[in-house]
Amino acid sequence: MPTNHTSPYLPFGDQRTAAWYGKDIISVKQFTRSDLEYVFGVAHEMRGMVARVGTFDLLKGKILANLFYEPSTRTSSSFTAAMERLGGSVIPINEVRYSSVSKGESLPDTVRTLECYADVIVLRHPETGSAAIAAEAASKPLINAGDGIGEHPTQALLDTFTIFEELGAGQVDGMTVTMLGDLKYGRTVHSLARLLSLFRVKINYVSPEILRLPKEVLDEVDAKRIPQAEYRSLEQVLPETDVLYVTRVQKERFEDPADYEKVKGAYVIDPEIMKAAKKEMIVMHPLPRVGEISVDFDDDPRAAYFRQMEYGLYVRMALLAMVLGKA
Ligand code: ASP
Repeated sequence: MPTNHTSPYLPFGDQRTAAWYGKDIISVKQFTRSDLEYVFGVAHEMRGMVARVGTFDLLKGKILANLFYEPSTRTSSSFTAAMERLGGSVIPINEVRYSSVSKGESLPDTVRTLECYADVIVLRHPETGSAAIAAEAASKPLINAGDGIGEHPTQALLDTFTIFEELGAGQVDGMTVTMLGDLKYGRTVHSLARLLSLFRVKINYVSPEILRLPKEVLDEVDAKRIPQAEYRSLEQVLPETDVLYVTRVQKERFEDPADYEKVKGAYVIDPEIMKAAKKEMIVMHPLPRVGEISVDFDDDPRAAYFRQMEYGLYVRMALLAMVLGKA
């Protein structure tokens, strides 16, 4: 992706740094619109620095504990890469089976242990609300990397940064965003719908009946007076869509495997379907995909999902620098 060195965001080193020093990042509800401009300004600088020098010493001597109780490829490795590109180091705990968790240690005790050795903790856990509980136990900053079907705030921040960088920071107001797939269990859409409600967007939700967005999230978006509507079919809304956010149907979250079988292939994005979409729009996906976007679409310039992962590195660098007081 092209690197634009003239930042459209707030200047790096803005006085807001102090506001994030030592803070936990648990939910997108913590962010205002001007906070986002600040995070994206720092992320934009990080992008430029990585392009120019690759690795630098902003967080030299700092240690991140990367604690993952659920599988992860992108979130875990991008936090590791982010810390190492900033000159810091990482304690990786990806297999809690091999840690004292398997001996029955509680989450608060595990977190209190890790903060003896690390300056910041990143946590992914299968239970909704676990990040808030862990943050309560910890005195060092804790970043939520996904709590069950609850929230995935750093993903929503990188998703919004992707939209800003790909379609223009000034273009978000007035956009139509369509979220597709598993909107019930997809924590990324729960966070993204909440975060986008800071802008004057229109949001369409397309899902099977049993995978509708939770009412709680619909109500929160409604309270911000954001126009939103639910659909069962994509055809109706694809032509007006500026951002199509595709999600995986999350097999591991279904109580009844028969329900998963009924809806697993509900929507598949391919070059044929995308003929009805605008020429200037983007298709995003938090990944992994398991068939909901055909590989035949990957070479289309509108396919932004691989670029989206790279934006995640810069946003996570920004967040680490912010909570450690170095942005
Ligand atoms: N990687 C995303 C998450 O952790 C989406 C997914 O797993 O489908 O929520």
